[in-house]
Amino acid sequence: MSMPTNEVDARVTPLIGDITQWRRDIHQHPELEYDVHRTAALVADKLRSFGADDVVEGVGRTGVVGVIRGRASGSGLCVGLRADMDALPIHEATELPYASKEGGKMHACGHDGHTAMLLGAAQVLCETRQFDGTAVVIFQPAEELGAGGREMVNDGLMERFDIQRVYGMHNLPNMPVGQFGVRTGPIMAAADTLDITISGKGGHAAMPHLCVDTMLVAAEVISALQHIASRHINPLESVVVSITSVQGDNDSYNVIPQTVKLKGTVRTLLPAVQDAVELHLTNVINQTAKAYGASAEINYKRDYPATINHDEEALIAADAARAIVGESHVDDNIAPMMGAEDFSFMLNARPGAFIFVGNGESASLHHPQYNFNDDIIQFGSSYWIKLVEASMPL
Ligand SMILES: [Zn+2]
Ligand SMILES: [Zn+2]
Repeated sequence: MSMPTNEVDARVTPLIGDITQWRRDIHQHPELEYDVHRTAALVADKLRSFGADDVVEGVGRTGVVGVIRGRASGSGLCVGLRADMDALPIHEATELPYASKEGGKMHACGHDGHTAMLLGAAQVLCETRQFDGTAVVIFQPAEELGAGGREMVNDGLMERFDIQRVYGMHNLPNMPVGQFGVRTGPIMAAADTLDITISGKGGHAAMPHLCVDTMLVAAEVISALQHIASRHINPLESVVVSITSVQGDNDSYNVIPQTVKLKGTVRTLLPAVQDAVELHLTNVINQTAKAYGASAEINYKRDYPATINHDEEALIAADAARAIVGESHVDDNIAPMMGAEDFSFMLNARPGAFIFVGNGESASLHHPQYNFNDDIIQFGSSYWIKLVEASMPL
C-alpha cells in the first residue's frame, strides 16, 4: 500500500508532542456525560492561552466554545468545528502507562483524541489567522449519553456564535492511518428506543389453558418484529430492529407472568424509513398481542436522529481531506454505519458534514482495549486547519 501524500500542515508538526501530551492527560482523567468539568476547564484554559478572541464556558451545561477571528472579516463567513469531550462507563483494560486513573471510566471512543486534535488546530488558527471570517471551535459534553449536542443547539449555539456551517470528525478503527472517509447523505443511523409491555393473564405454569401466556406472546412479538426489515421495508434501505431485554414480572419456575417487558433499539438511515418502521412496528406488536388475547403498550422514543451530511459541505470536507492525504486516501463514498452520533443535532440546525479519520488497526470503539492512535493527530489537526482556510480564503 502506498503511503499518504505527506501534506500534513507544517505548523502542526512542531505541536504534535504537546497535542499528544494533552490527549494522554485527558485520557488519564475520563469524565462522563455532562460531568466533564476537568476536561472543559483544560480546554478553556488552553483556548485562552492560545489567544482565542472569546472563550465561553457552560454552553449546553458544560460545553466550551472558542471564537477565533481571521486576519480579515470581510467575507462575513463563520464555520463551526466540533469535538466531543465525554468518556464511557467502561473499565479500561489496555494497561497503557497513561491508562485511566478513574476506575470504571474510560475514553473508549477516542473523544480524548478528538478534543486534543481540535485544540491543536485552534492553537495554529489563533497564531496564524490565515482566513477571512470566523472559526468557532465547539467542545461538547454528553455525546455518548445525554444528547449534549442537542443541549448546545438548544442553548443557542448556532445563533449566539453566528455559525453558518458546522463540521464534525470521528476516528475509525481499522481504517488505515492517513485515510479519511466521508459521503453525502446519511453517514450514521438514527437510534430510537423501544419499550413494550405485554399484558395477559398470569397464573399457574402447569395450567396454561387458564392463562394468556405473556411470555409466549413476547416470543411471537420478537419474532414478528423481524418481519419489518425483511418484509415491510425496501430491501435496499437499511433497518435494524433489535430486542435486547425480556423481563417477566416474576422470577419463578412455575408462574406465568401477568406482564412481560421488552426493550430494544431501532436503527434507520432515512427519516421516511424511520416513520415507516415506527408505524409497522406499532401495528405488528398490537396485532400480534391481540391475536393471542393479550394487549401491548408501546413507548417508541426517537433518541438521536440520523447524521445526514449535506451535499456541498461533504464535498468541501472531502476536498480538505484530499489536500492533506491525497486523492487516493480519501473514500468519499464510505458505507454508512448503523451506530448513532449526536452531531446529528448540529447537522439538523446548520448545513455541514461529518468525516471519519482512520485510527489504524485497533480494538473497536467502546471496547476496553480500544486506544486512540496518536499517529493520526497530525492528520486530524491538519484537516481542521485546511477546512477553515479553504472555506474562508483570504
Ligand atoms: Zn462512542
Ligand atoms: Zn464517539
